[in-house]
Amino acid sequence: MVGHASMPGTLACERAWVNIDLNALANNVRQLKQQLLPQTAFMAVVKADGYGHGAVTVARIALDNGATWLGVATIVEGIELRQADINAPILVLGATHTVQEIEAIVRWQLQPTLCSPEQALTFSRQLQHPLPVHLMVDTGMSRLGPMWQQGATFIEFVSRLPKLAIASIYSHLATADHADTSFMLQQQNRLQDVLTRVQAQNIPRPKLHLANSAGMLTGPQFHYDLVRVGLAMYGLYPGPQFQSRVDLQPVMQVKARVTQVKTIPAGSGVSYNHTFMADQPLTVAVVGIGYADGVPRTLSNQMQVIIRGQRVPQVGAITMDQLMIDASSLPDLKVGEVVTLLGQEGTAAISAEAWATTVGTISYEIVCGFKHRLPRVLNQ
Ligand SMILES: *Cc1c(COP(=O)(O)O)cnc(C)c1O
Repeated sequence: MVGHASMPGTLACERAWVNIDLNALANNVRQLKQQLLPQTAFMAVVKADGYGHGAVTVARIALDNGATWLGVATIVEGIELRQADINAPILVLGATHTVQEIEAIVRWQLQPTLCSPEQALTFSRQLQHPLPVHLMVDTGMSRLGPMWQQGATFIEFVSRLPKLAIASIYSHLATADHADTSFMLQQQNRLQDVLTRVQAQNIPRPKLHLANSAGMLTGPQFHYDLVRVGLAMYGLYPGPQFQSRVDLQPVMQVKARVTQVKTIPAGSGVSYNHTFMADQPLTVAVVGIGYADGVPRTLSNQMQVIIRGQRVPQVGAITMDQLMIDASSLPDLKVGEVVTLLGQEGTAAISAEAWATTVGTISYEIVCGFKHRLPRVLNQ
């Protein structure tokens, strides 16, 4: 089954693709959901096209396996889900301000994040019917929302505005993936402080949420009424300290085909600027995937791929659509054979976390890099 309806041709002629393991995704969601109390809702965060995995696919599987909410970053991402006939409540995590954005939110039944009094006023004035809204308070991320010291005033202000139904109050953790939990606890205390002050004003206790994947895996004291889970659902750990908490399987695998095999003489340079020089005759295989597909160019000469269950080094600069490997250990390699860039084959495995460590980034950015060009193949 192929993810892109518009994908030309069949899989057999594809030079590269992304496998999405639907079983792994379903298992991850179920396992994570099991860690929650029954009254805690699971929001599947599917922004950035489901972290490169395909937002509609991920949303459907997550909703079938225990999620009841969806989180997106933008209105356009929310509309994509609605156009796929997904009816679950959708929270837009990013800021929205304009008349057109408010119209779209109403039309597509999305739920906005409100993060300033001015924005709340704009919504209240433009709305014709009550709209569920989610108030974000900044407890230490220094991103969206008023600072926590102004949090209670902000919530009181919104509670007096017509047409705005406060569906939840939330905040976002800045350091939940650190082994040192002290700042996370400080953020939690700040949120609690906001809540105490709001309750002193006789505003009914609204629903509360704070945890991303790392916060959720840290423990139930961070779960409240809902958890907003992205990374862990995709089978990636926000940090090594969480591996003992839950058994997750990576959902994404990246594959490509060998497109040419040849021998180059000693002294030949490989790829742009000859950053790799063959010091002996070398069997080079060309693989049909490059940095425009999502393989970070900074992995050049620093990555390996898996062929026939065996790790093989990549050589020379990774180019836009192709990269080269040293296939000297596989002299009978054939055009069309499958190369695994990310994923497991036999006992060999290469993870997004490993790439991220080499490149100096986080696994989030690695998987998000695969959202544009490659067809997605859904494995049941
Ligand atoms: C992206 C995002 C999440 C999900 O974070 P993960 O670390 O991927 O679980 C949760 N909440 C907000 C506000 C976000 O922007």
